[in-house]
Amino acid sequence: MKWSYSSLSLFQQCPKKYHHLRVLKDIVEPQSEQMRYGLELHKAAEEYIRDGVDLPPGFEFMRESLEQLKALPGEKYCEYKLGLTRDLEPCEFFADDVWWRGIADLLVINGEEARVLDYKTGKDKYADTKQLEILSLAVFKKFPQVKVVKAGLLFVVHTNFIKAKYEREKEMELWKKWLPETNRMETAYEKNVWNAKQNFTCKAWCPVMTCPHNGKR
Ligand code: SF4
Repeated sequence: MKWSYSSLSLFQQCPKKYHHLRVLKDIVEPQSEQMRYGLELHKAAEEYIRDGVDLPPGFEFMRESLEQLKALPGEKYCEYKLGLTRDLEPCEFFADDVWWRGIADLLVINGEEARVLDYKTGKDKYADTKQLEILSLAVFKKFPQVKVVKAGLLFVVHTNFIKAKYEREKEMELWKKWLPETNRMETAYEKNVWNAKQNFTCKAWCPVMTCPHNGKR
């Protein structure tokens, strides 16, 4: 089993949907307009900070926020790929024994302090900092000198910034919250049991048409 924050979230929402989309891969979700826009925005931000490529006309609104990020002291890594093994050792993103994978939109390492930034195109009322937490835990593994991670969700369209802070001394405490969740996923793999779990996507957004709970049938 390999997991990321998004795959764990999908599993938690509905194991049956997860099984089709991520294990069997017999259903491919079409790319929505929102997803395409998010990819273009991430690419524009990455190239602006890393390579100094000017922003495309449609993304001018991000300039001020990105300039502030560019001015942060420290080594900057854009779209930085992190991996952990099952023993929570750092590894390459595509290593054979990778267990968890995550990508930081922007990672800044400045001595004992790191920053982890995630760009969001949606509305800040849906802010979910859990993704920042797991990325920060991986940063502690990969960069042993880092003692504190100041993380944030940057809502570039709605210009808001949701902050979170993680300290190395609380690392194991935080992992204790994640491991039971991943254990449930591992059990599903071992037993090959993928129960349907009804949720808000059943009515109109789930692509699993064979499921009796699908509202589009
Ligand atoms: S319709 Fe609902 S219960 Fe069925 S697979 Fe989709 S999300 Fe799961």
